[in-house]
Amino acid sequence: MPTVACHDCDLLHRLGPLPEGVTARCRRCGGLLRKRTRNGFERTLALALAAAILFAVANAFPFLSFEMRGRVTQTNVVTGIVDLWKGGKPEIAALVALTIEVAPVAQLSLLLYVLGLVRIGRVPPGLPTAFRLLRHATSWSMIEVFMLGIIVAIPKLMGMATIVPGLALWSFVLLMLVLSAAMAAFDPEEVWERVEGRR
Ligand SMILES: [Zn+2]
Repeated sequence: MPTVACHDCDLLHRLGPLPEGVTARCRRCGGLLRKRTRNGFERTLALALAAAILFAVANAFPFLSFEMRGRVTQTNVVTGIVDLWKGGKPEIAALVALTIEVAPVAQLSLLLYVLGLVRIGRVPPGLPTAFRLLRHATSWSMIEVFMLGIIVAIPKLMGMATIVPGLALWSFVLLMLVLSAAMAAFDPEEVWERVEGRR
């Protein structure tokens, strides 16, 4: 039985597999040791698939349209990043590309790789590395920070031009929610249990 330390008081517990919907708490302080969500595996997989579709839509369609003195300019996410780069802000362009493109793509690909293979009854090669990379990708994936920046910028821009939110903007809003829900439902322990049960 694996040993788990309480995050709050460091008391060690021996913790076996938990049934679905059960929460394990510390004997001494009541701190959360582990939570097994109901249908966590299937929920994460479904949400990750939905997030992948939303990500594709968010990148394929216009993000914002500006109308200024009868001239309409449309931007999408990638052209926005390229414009930042060309406009002499390469560091910001690289940071935006990393946090809203590269990291979320890595996060979703790794999640779908692991869950997809386990779902069809296979053990994903390089599983510990995939989990490690997923942790890094998740910490760099910051769609919500980007959206906050957009929400702050839109009222300022509205003074200068007519702003029409595009399909990509709404997809980003949904993506932000669906991706957080996927990560909240994701339980790496459950993946290990399924993989080990098959060995
Ligand atoms: Zn405790």
